[in-house]
Amino acid sequence: MVLGQLGGSITRALQQMSNATIIDEKVVSECLNEISRALLQADVQFKMVRDMQANIKRIVNPDDLAAGHNKRRIMQKAVFDELCRILDPGKPSYTPKKGKTSIIMFVGLQGSGKTTTCTKYAHYHQKKGWKPALVCADTFRAGAFDQLKQNATKAKIPFYGSYMESDPVKIAAEGVERFKQENCDLIIVDTSGRHKQEAALFEEMRQVSEATKPDLVIFVMDSSIGQAAFDQAQAFKQSVSVGAVIVTKMDGHAKGGGALSAVAATKSPVIFIGTGEHMHEFEVFDVKPFVSRLLGMGDWSGFMDKIHEVVPTDQQPELLQKLSEGSFTMRLMYEQFQNMLKMGPIGQVFSMLPGFSSELMPKGHEKESQAKIKRYMTMMDSMTNDELDSTNPKLMNESRMLRIARGSGRSVREVVDMMEEFKRLAKIWSKMKGLKIPKKGDMSAL
Ligand code: GDP
Repeated sequence: MVLGQLGGSITRALQQMSNATIIDEKVVSECLNEISRALLQADVQFKMVRDMQANIKRIVNPDDLAAGHNKRRIMQKAVFDELCRILDPGKPSYTPKKGKTSIIMFVGLQGSGKTTTCTKYAHYHQKKGWKPALVCADTFRAGAFDQLKQNATKAKIPFYGSYMESDPVKIAAEGVERFKQENCDLIIVDTSGRHKQEAALFEEMRQVSEATKPDLVIFVMDSSIGQAAFDQAQAFKQSVSVGAVIVTKMDGHAKGGGALSAVAATKSPVIFIGTGEHMHEFEVFDVKPFVSRLLGMGDWSGFMDKIHEVVPTDQQPELLQKLSEGSFTMRLMYEQFQNMLKMGPIGQVFSMLPGFSSELMPKGHEKESQAKIKRYMTMMDSMTNDELDSTNPKLMNESRMLRIARGSGRSVREVVDMMEEFKRLAKIWSKMKGLKIPKKGDMSAL
């Protein structure tokens, strides 16, 4: 995902700023310009970037920054808050309640992933015990009903549509009525998309909305539409009362900044993102963890949730203790490698930390990464207990490295590489020193 590049650029700009000897207005401005450039490159709308820049300038006073504060952190926090502000319209969307009928209408341009997303949305709720149903009110595109039927059948979700009827309003009303009778609690109406925004599309959407009285209208947007996102989202919002946004194809090469623009245009929150073509490639969207990850700050709230969710209760205190001590040893690295190879629960937890698995196990290179990790583990098997339990990388002098290389049948170069990896991970781990267990989305642990 190209949004990752945006995070990288922002982090680099902050790093450069904190490397400067004197932080004055000029340095802060340069840093902000750099961040703005990165946001523009990610397709965030120009006006939003300009507003954000002005807001941060107001918040971050260079005189404050000079007074021995952690400058990078203050700026990072300001950037974090601004991005969250853009992505969080300040009011939650309508939340359907299980057991009580809710009608959800999906709108968006053709090809945005609307039909796929309807099924994903239904499937997501079905897994949680809901009784969803799908209505195909797209009579414009030949094959739309077949596609919905196929998806719905695969997911075992009841559906309604017609090959004969050409009036989408009639079909939508009939479908909704039928599923109300059947006591479905989530009636999802898929509407026609057309190729581009045109009057007929908006009129049809308005009529379907009038006939079905949806509790929530979800605007589906392809993340790759770039700078056009703002205008497109706004056009939809002006015709029907969009209450939430789902951004699709976040897995592709999209720059993703359009998601930010869509929220600003509709003043509605992003509730899910689509991360692939398959039914399960669908994630709940949470602003703070998303921005944390974007800025390479690690997904703290997600991380903690994951610990509680997947680490056996009796192992949680020990793991949290180790994290809060912040001291990283070779033995700990060995254990984490074991977990990563198994990709068991703790492996999943660690994959959420920046640098832990993205660099060690980059996507698409899993095989090579696994072989590398196994080589490291073979070398660690030749270490003494003192070496494994030491937190001091200086202990590993030349003669020890030579002994480990010989003992494991690897080259000294490889042992040096492993030590470099150790230092890198120790640095990440040390950031967790003194970690208080944050509540969901709480930033105080940073
Ligand atoms: P609609 O015309 O808006 O109903 O769009 P479709 O649901 O037919 O989707 C258009 C194409 O986008 C299909 O090939 C989908 O498989 C694909 N698609 C939908 N969502 C995603 C996603 O999140 N990621 C990826 N990679 N492809 C997606």
